[in-house]
Order: sequence, then structure tokens, then C-alpha cells
Amino acid sequence: MSSYPQSPLMGQMMSQPLLISSIIEFVARHYGGNEIVSRRVEGDLHRYTYRECHQRARRLANALHGLGVGLGDRVATLAWNGYRHLEAYYAVSGSGAVLHTINPRLFPEQIVYIANHAEDQCLLFDLTFLPVVEAIAAQCKTVRHFVLMCDRERMPKDSKIPDLLCYEDLIASHSDEYTWPLFDENSAATLCYTSGTTGNPKGALYSHRSTVLHAYGSAVPNALNVSAADTVLPVVPMFHVNAWGLPYSVPLSGAKMVFPGAALDGKSLYELFESEKVTFSAGVPTVWLGLINHALQNKLKFSTFRRTVIGGAACPPAMMDTLIDVFGIEVVHAWGMTEMSPLGTCGGLQSKHMDLPQAAQRKILQKQGHAIYGVDMKIVDDDGKELPWDGISYGHLMVKGPWIIARYFKDEGGEVLQDGWFPTGDVSTIDADGYMQITDRSKDVIKSGGEWIGTIDLENLAMGHPAVLQAACIGVAHPKWDERPLLLVVKRPGMEVGREDLLHFFDGKIAKWWMPDDVVFLDALPMGATGKIQKNKLREQFKGHCLPTA
Ligand code: ADP
Repeated sequence: MSSYPQSPLMGQMMSQPLLISSIIEFVARHYGGNEIVSRRVEGDLHRYTYRECHQRARRLANALHGLGVGLGDRVATLAWNGYRHLEAYYAVSGSGAVLHTINPRLFPEQIVYIANHAEDQCLLFDLTFLPVVEAIAAQCKTVRHFVLMCDRERMPKDSKIPDLLCYEDLIASHSDEYTWPLFDENSAATLCYTSGTTGNPKGALYSHRSTVLHAYGSAVPNALNVSAADTVLPVVPMFHVNAWGLPYSVPLSGAKMVFPGAALDGKSLYELFESEKVTFSAGVPTVWLGLINHALQNKLKFSTFRRTVIGGAACPPAMMDTLIDVFGIEVVHAWGMTEMSPLGTCGGLQSKHMDLPQAAQRKILQKQGHAIYGVDMKIVDDDGKELPWDGISYGHLMVKGPWIIARYFKDEGGEVLQDGWFPTGDVSTIDADGYMQITDRSKDVIKSGGEWIGTIDLENLAMGHPAVLQAACIGVAHPKWDERPLLLVVKRPGMEVGREDLLHFFDGKIAKWWMPDDVVFLDALPMGATGKIQKNKLREQFKGHCLPTA
């Protein structure tokens, strides 16, 4: 695939393709006794070792071969974070097929759309999703085999799905003798669809090479900093951008893995963190809300949990403060997107920051962070002219690197790159030290009187108020200014705050013209399939909202 010129003198190193199978082979051989613990849909805790995981992945690879799955064929999953899902990660990609992780929180018609678009040949799914799969099976035109990820006892007596296969039977009936095939490292390995808040979802088709490089790049100390001394609990789902690559970077590091299954409430997570001595975790801000509230309400502390990565949406500073100051947990703020495998930047301090006062250090940590090796970025204005890295100028954030898509699957959307850079759709600043800070998504930014108001700042400020649990800021049409900010707030249970008090709380903390024109209190905010607030829904709901005149 390389179109670069060759030197007359080429290096003389072994040529070994970067393949996903090499990660499971490595961990099984060198950290084979380390554990993978999973809370199962069946309710119990399952534990085994990387060695056993490797063995079962090889059985599954044989089984897939038996089902006629070949190189490049798509095998879909609808599954929680668990050991069987991990086996599929390695068996499918390792054997040369393409793992297509489907987000079960999508509407059934969206699932049908992407299964058909991907031309999935097989669908492996957890018991939880049996009703969904029964409802859509007939519409998934290309799926030849449906496999229920459970044992024989739990198989339904009569299912509407024709020839429904049992995962455990399939594994048991195949040998673990299997040699992972070697093929071009640029072959497709996994397929993830964007959540498609506007238009149909589009597929990002990762290669073996991009996945292995992303796993390497994300494990280093400046990024996730995972080592064999860690116990890692990925809260971020394996059906959302491959759980930020943790199913690869954790085994690559030899760390113990703990999977929470479907139990993502604060109490269940807390119990698992404590019983399995978890040291490191990763997830979107909304999951931490549940865990933090559970711990605060019950006056609990964490005995081993030391570091967490928060990303996917802006980490509110108040949440970061609570995690650091109350629980002593280091917070790494990270940014990325499906099109980037997903990791782009990670927060953290450099040696020159160590003597700064705590408040100044916190300001740095609150930024979305520094590019990790493998990702280059720049900000440009509407005409594509590069903007300075001064921490003030903001513009369209562009990225490039070996784990960033060059196009969408089946060329959906046509040419996506601009002069070789991928436009992220985010608006940000970059400071002189290279720290990037997201101002907003370009489609969420509020355009008021020709100027931009970033909604993330306003939301973060609101969430700094003790009575505010969640906040979302949207632009609402205004006759004079085009758009003005409307703040939508969910109060903490049992706590009170009024419109005037909340607006007063903003006084002196933002420019006057950034002040929201109105506040509406809601019982809940609409959440999308990836745990993010759906601002498009809010914009639709409040499009006729009449702002009070000052
Ligand atoms: P989608 O939400 O469409 O499924 P992704 O899950 O790939 O897409 O989300 C990517 C987007 O999420 C980014 O472009 C950015 O807008 C937002 N995002 C991710 N991490 C952060 C962060 N730390 N702070 C603010 N926004 C973030």
C-alpha cells in the first residue's frame, strides 16, 4: 500500500506484519497467568486467564472457519464488555475476518441499517439482546448465522431466529489447534460506525496496522499509562470505538482485565472496583456521575483505584475536582473520535508544571490535552489558514496520523480529507505548550451577533454549582443576535436552585454577552447511544422557546 519512494539502502530488520493476533499470542505467552474477570449477563462473576482466553479464541477461530467465514468477511457483535466478547475480538480479526461491533443502544432500525450496510455474515450476541435480534433477524439480509453467546442451558427452547447457534457448543465442538494466519497488516480488522446524529451512520474501517499502532501509542505513560502492575476496568463499552482500544492496549501491557458486563450503575461498579482491586479505568463523564454519587452518598472511599481516563465528552471541572480532591484519583482528560480509533490527545502535567500552584495545574489538566505520538493536529480558520498556538485563537481542529481514517467505509460521504488532514468537526484552541482545548463541536457552537459562544464553558460553569447535576447549553433563535444561549439544567436530587440564583452564579466568571438568556429546569436530559447528551434533540424541543427580553 506504500506509495513512498524507496531508498537504495533499505533497513535489514525482520519483516513481520503488525497483526492483532500477535497481541493475544504475546499476552498468553508472556503474561498467560494473569486474569480476566467478567460480570456476566447470567449474573455471576466469571474468571479465567489470558492463556485460557487465547485457547478459546483459537477454538472460535476454527468455528468461524467452519461456518464459512473467510478473509474480509464481516462478523458482527451485539455484546457487553465481557470475556466472550474479547474472544470474538481476537478470533474474528485474528483469523482475517472483520469484527463489526454494533452499539445495542441504537434504535432497531439503525441496527438493521448498519448490519445490512456492513453486509455482516454472522451475528454474535449476548442474552440481553435476544428480543432485539428476534425482532430484526429477518431484516438482516446478509446474516447467515446467529450465535447466542451463552451455554446450552440458557438457550431458548423455541426461538424465532432460524438455526440459532449456541456459542458454548460452538466453542466446545472445535479444536484449539489453530495457527493465526499471516497476511498484509493493512487488511481490514474492525469496523465501527459513528453514532450518526445527523444522517445515516458512517463506518470507520480500521486495519490491523492502525489498531496495533493505536494500542502501542495509547499505552505509553503520556497517554493511558497502562502496565502489568495495573488492574484495568474498561467502563467504556466494547461496542463503542473498541472501548477506546483497551481490549488491545491492556493485553499488550499484560495488565489484569475486569469487565463490568451490563451492570454499569454506581453500586455495581463500586463493588467490582473494590473486590477486584481495580487501579485504572476509563469512561465517559456520565458513568462517573453515577459512581461518584454512589460513593459520596454512602461515604465510601476507593482502596486501590488510582487513575482514570475521562473522555468522549468534556469532563466537567467540578467532576475532576471531586475525583482528585475527595477520592485522590488522578484524572486524565482525553479527546478523540470514532474516526481516530479513537485516541487523539491526553491531559497531564509536564515537569515544568510541577511547581505551579494547584489552581494553575488544574487549568492545564482541564484541557483536552496534548497530542500523543502518532497524531498530528492543527487549527484553521474558515478559509483553511492555520491559526497560531496561543491558547486564545480558536478554529477548526484538523488531524492526521496512521490511525485516522482516510475515507469512510464504502466511500460514504465521498472525499473527507482536506489537503491530507481530517476535519474533526470540533472547534478548539491550542496553546504554546501544545495543549488542545475543545471550545465546542462546530454544530453546537452558538453564533451570537457574528461571534461564537462555546457551550462547553457555560455547561462546565453551571455544573460547578452545588445544586446542578447536569447542564446542557444550546443556541435558540433570536431576532437581533441570530442565536442566544439557553441553559437546560437537571438539579441534584433534594437540592434547589432558581433561575436568577443560577445566572447570578455566572456573574464575573464569563464575558457579559456569554450570559445565558434563560434557564429551563428538566427532570432529565436526552442521552444518545454513546452516553452523550443529544443536543440536536434539545434544539428540536426548544426551537420555539421564547427567550425573555432583557
Ligand atoms: P459520536 O458522538 O458521533 O459517536 P464519537 O463518539 O466519535 O462520535 O465522539 C467524538 C466527539 O466527541 C468529538 O469530535 C468531540 O466533539 C467529542 N469529544 C470527545 N472527547 C471529548 C472531550 N474530552 N471533550 C469534549 N468533547 C469531546
